[in-house]
Amino acid sequence: MPDREPRDSTPGVPQLQAEIARLNKTIQALMDRAERSASSQESDYSRFQVTVMLEDRIRTRTAELEAALAENEKINRALRESEAKFRGVVGQSLVGITITENGKFTYSNAKFDEIFGYTADEMRQLGPVDLAADEDRAMVEENVRRRVSGEIDQIDFGYRGLRKDGAVIDIEVHGSVMELGGKRALISMLLDVTERVRAARDLQALQDKLREQSIHDGLTGLYNRFYLDDFLSRELIAAKRADYPVSAIMADLDHFKAVNDHYGHLAGDEVLRVLGDLLKQHARGSDMCSRYGGEEFLLVLPGMSQDAAARRAEQLRSALAAVHIPFDGSNLEVTASFGVATFPVDGATADSLISAADGALYASKAAGRNRVSIAKRPQGTGVPPPRVPAAA
Ligand code: GH3
Ligand code: MG
Ligand code: MG
Repeated sequence: MPDREPRDSTPGVPQLQAEIARLNKTIQALMDRAERSASSQESDYSRFQVTVMLEDRIRTRTAELEAALAENEKINRALRESEAKFRGVVGQSLVGITITENGKFTYSNAKFDEIFGYTADEMRQLGPVDLAADEDRAMVEENVRRRVSGEIDQIDFGYRGLRKDGAVIDIEVHGSVMELGGKRALISMLLDVTERVRAARDLQALQDKLREQSIHDGLTGLYNRFYLDDFLSRELIAAKRADYPVSAIMADLDHFKAVNDHYGHLAGDEVLRVLGDLLKQHARGSDMCSRYGGEEFLLVLPGMSQDAAARRAEQLRSALAAVHIPFDGSNLEVTASFGVATFPVDGATADSLISAADGALYASKAAGRNRVSIAKRPQGTGVPPPRVPAAA
């Protein structure tokens, strides 16, 4: 569709006007002649008759032509009005609208040009594929091909668009087809959804971050107690169904208050971080390490027997005892006490399992700290507690 205002008269109208003018002149000439004949007494009846007949015919023809001209004007005005309405609506549309013929944009509204940053004239040299970012060019080309070939008449899709200034934008398209000059022309309506997509992405990232924060401990990066409760309950349901053990190791720093008192709270924080890292280093993919409280940690070890869990606790105990934590010119040395309990023998629920591990931890503290203890089995289970390697 041409991007120009329609001309005032359509082809044919000047010819009509010229013919009317010609006819009027002929009438005038004939009238003059008739008058002259009458006045010069050369009256000839037959000549007069011909003149009257011709005059009559010319009048009729003139009336016909004038009616045709009026009709033409009416159609022309209706066309101009319809064109003005189309331009008013489409020109102000917040949606980019374009018509593509033979792979090039033969029409684009102002919004479409603005979305991609080209002038209307520049746009006439381009086609849909030129406005797609590299990653989506093939997809856009295919969607054009499918509409041109008649495989489909309508399509909705999103793609990464490419502006003239090189910026990549998110576009949503509703594409259809219409017949123009006996060929399939593509009509596309586009929305620039870059801001919407960015806002949705930011929101998702924020939600992910908040979720991460809500289940993690900020200081050590381990899971927090909120997540632990959820994880352990789910894990015990699965363990019960599939009949496998789940061990829990509770750890508590020894005389930690003294570390804070002696070296300051920041030194205490550093010790907590070091223990957190150590727990992570020793964990398998399926294990869950959490900071249970201030300086208490709880590990959940799905599928791990009590023996294996006791060995793991001993590894952790000796590894921590061997660590020197540099802080403010000092080398801090800390130890921790451990308690081990295993589902289902030491506790059949999350609460009872944690309380069994806590009881074993208390036993380690009572026995002098820096050691590992196994939960006391309820009487009559017939399962003897495993031996634990002696503390260093
Ligand atoms: P025990 O060997 O019996 O466990 O003695 P403890 O001193 O470790 O135990 P206690 O319960 O008396 O003290 C725990 C200390 O842990 C007290 C508290 O200030 C400290 N604490 C708790 N959370 C944090 C923390 O986030 N950072 C620091 N620096 N200290 C913490
Ligand atoms: Mg402590
Ligand atoms: Mg404590």
